[in-house]
Amino acid sequence: MFEAPILDPARFTALGEAVEGRVPVRDLERLQSALHDAGGEIRYRVEGLRTAEGLPALAMHVEGNLSLTCQRCLSAVPFDLAHDSRIVMVKDEASLPDLAEEAEGIDAIVQPDRLNIAELVEEEILLALPLVPVHPDGGCRPEGKAQTAEREHPFAALNRLKKPS
Ligand SMILES: [Zn+2]
Repeated sequence: MFEAPILDPARFTALGEAVEGRVPVRDLERLQSALHDAGGEIRYRVEGLRTAEGLPALAMHVEGNLSLTCQRCLSAVPFDLAHDSRIVMVKDEASLPDLAEEAEGIDAIVQPDRLNIAELVEEEILLALPLVPVHPDGGCRPEGKAQTAEREHPFAALNRLKKPS
């Protein structure tokens, strides 16, 4: 877990405070298994607010460039992270809306005693990642075998295609 403030959620949202910062990608522990390369950093901003209904809420923003592992060819696939979301905090589990009733881009959680900004930001980044990162069709690195064959006979495949069979 990286260094970030731990706050009182009631106070933070009532005052409309904001916290922003940067975190090196390598410090995001729960992200590491999805990464091809842990370079770079993520910028984040967490803003406290009250909804129209007067509920404490957080506006979250995370952005940065990540290098994920393509699940088809296992080479690097760049991912441009830029994610906004809202988290509404309710007093207990009974007040949580049904999943089906949750509006797009708005999550509800039970208000914690302490707001751990690092934990929230990491969770937010994980939620923004593609479930199965892959290159667009045709963008995958050719398999090792095909690559070697191409290097040995650069025009062999082309000649085969041109020859009428
Ligand atoms: Zn790929």
